[in-house]
Amino acid sequence: MSRLIVVSNRVNPPTGKGDESVGGLAMALAAALREYSGLWFGWSGKTTPEFTGQLAMQRIDGVTVATVDLEEADYDEYYNGYANKTLWPLFHYRADLTAYDRAYGEGYERVNCRFAETLRPLIEPDDMVWIHDYHLIPLARELRKLGVENRIGFFLHIPWPAHQLFTTLPGHRPLVEALFDYDLVGFQTAEFQQAFEEYVISEADGEHVGPHCLKAFGRTLHVGSYPIGMDASDFGKMMKSARAARMRDLMTAATVFRQLIVGVDRLDYSKGLEERFLGFERLLIDNPDLRREVLMLQIAPPSREGVEAYQEIRARLDALSGRINGEFSDIDWAPFRYVNKNYRRDELAGIYCASKVGLVTPLRDGMNLVCKEYVAAQNPEDPGVLVLSRFAGAARQMKEALLVNPNSPEEIAEALKQALAMDKSERIRRWRALFENVQREDVTAWRDAFVADLAGTAEKLKALA
Ligand code: UDP
Repeated sequence: MSRLIVVSNRVNPPTGKGDESVGGLAMALAAALREYSGLWFGWSGKTTPEFTGQLAMQRIDGVTVATVDLEEADYDEYYNGYANKTLWPLFHYRADLTAYDRAYGEGYERVNCRFAETLRPLIEPDDMVWIHDYHLIPLARELRKLGVENRIGFFLHIPWPAHQLFTTLPGHRPLVEALFDYDLVGFQTAEFQQAFEEYVISEADGEHVGPHCLKAFGRTLHVGSYPIGMDASDFGKMMKSARAARMRDLMTAATVFRQLIVGVDRLDYSKGLEERFLGFERLLIDNPDLRREVLMLQIAPPSREGVEAYQEIRARLDALSGRINGEFSDIDWAPFRYVNKNYRRDELAGIYCASKVGLVTPLRDGMNLVCKEYVAAQNPEDPGVLVLSRFAGAARQMKEALLVNPNSPEEIAEALKQALAMDKSERIRRWRALFENVQREDVTAWRDAFVADLAGTAEKLKALA
């Protein structure tokens, strides 16, 4: 069997010591690598004044991990710059927050070059290379320049924007051309895949040359959609943990005679937190009878604090949460708990379980794992209700949730009201369908589908020749 090399911007596998607070991507990749005798390569998360290219190798919980430090300018221009101030906002439909700066583009190219040069000596002839996410789009091109002929796949964890929006990016064409140095490019949903295909056909004179096969820039590329799932078996274990039970009991005791609504998101403008807070406020305004009946808990650990847009959204959310509590609290009661702290996933499992409503309303999201975790954590005999944004990639698989337009506080308030009043038989019916999907389309199914397609690309190309 070929060895699998996974490359992502950050490399932070779970330690296996129960410290389960790493993000969705890290969990998914660690699960993928444990299965194959693989290697995980990426940035260490540390910076040095000058780039050294020094590799640090270690073994963590059955996975070989190779990391490299970046230079301080790389952090500003590649990571905070092109990745998080240009591509992230644009791909999440925030053209208003998208910054274009020549130094960012140069930093992005430079780091992809550095990654390629550092990774090159680790690649053996039979290895398959699987590169992840928007930070590393040009990496295959740089590896090809260094003579790498291995199969290389790319998976985009975030949305691919609609054609008209994507073309607002200066340098959009070379970015897409770079994707044609992969053998396989995967998207979260068929909709993102279609948006990419539309671009290739209308802007790059591309054509379909077979099922899921595009030709442009003189090269042929396989594309597909692979909705990422949660690690259902690992999460099942966490749900049985003492920490999960403690959190569940704590939240149940805190909400006697009240129904708990929960939101859990990185503090990011793409997550629709402002509109969500306004939706909860609208619920309280329109339904005085519910005011003492509900508690909303929003967990939002800060992220990317070096980027101004994140500082601004944080300040706005502070003000808004304060306003809602100021408006509706009483001496013995407050409707809203807003917590800027990161919780472990086993703790989250307990909190989800105690919540009558899971409120997940991103304005745009590649997939969203929190909604899947919320479903997985429910008690089958008395499950809560998922209210989900129609603009989360997950909405395509989770049609039995109450789907809402996350831009509309009114729709959010209506869905909350419906969820809080929903009778048990309907809750069970909806939950069963959601749970079945979350179990079936889990991270293992995602990984296997992508790796099998990557392994099969050479044969498919031969058949087309
Ligand atoms: N998460 C966590 N602790 C927190 C908040 C979130 O461990 O305090 C985890 C959450 O359980 C989920 C992941 O972070 O597994 C977030 O993944 P998602 O796809 O929902 O959003 P992303 O942050 O990747 O945009």
